[in-house]
Amino acid sequence: MPSTTSILLDLKNKYTRLNFVPGESFAWSSSDNIVFYDEKSPDLQILLLHEISHALLGHDKYDRDIELIAMEREAWNKTTELAQYFNIEVLDSLIQSAMDSYRDWLHSRSSCPKCQAIGLQTDISNYHCPACNNNWSVNEARTCALRRYKTKKRT
Ligand SMILES: [Zn+2]
Ligand SMILES: [Zn+2]
Repeated sequence: MPSTTSILLDLKNKYTRLNFVPGESFAWSSSDNIVFYDEKSPDLQILLLHEISHALLGHDKYDRDIELIAMEREAWNKTTELAQYFNIEVLDSLIQSAMDSYRDWLHSRSSCPKCQAIGLQTDISNYHCPACNNNWSVNEARTCALRRYKTKKRT
């Protein structure tokens, strides 16, 4: 497996239209054309490729949480492709745990706080419960790759 510094250099050389900026977590910002990365992550190489995948796929805003899940699936497929190209191993367990974390996240956002039924998303930050007519708001969440490391529960 190539070293962390060499892969970062390779990626910067290959994807010259993208900006790479160290940060506290991994994220793709389409408005600024920036891939943020956490230098200290044990999965740095893979997660860098994952954010680059979002960039290459032109992922931008989404209107419904379910679209984010689809975008993540697409990005992970692309990540696997890129990883082969760069000769980096991607563990299925990493992808599974990432996808699980998005599904858990979706489940916790979409569950009605009053009756636990699954609600319908009415816009980017609101849900409606068809069972008890409750409405609730959710925080906007754009970062994806490190969601599984977040300990703070969303309500
Ligand atoms: Zn309800
Ligand atoms: Zn992602």
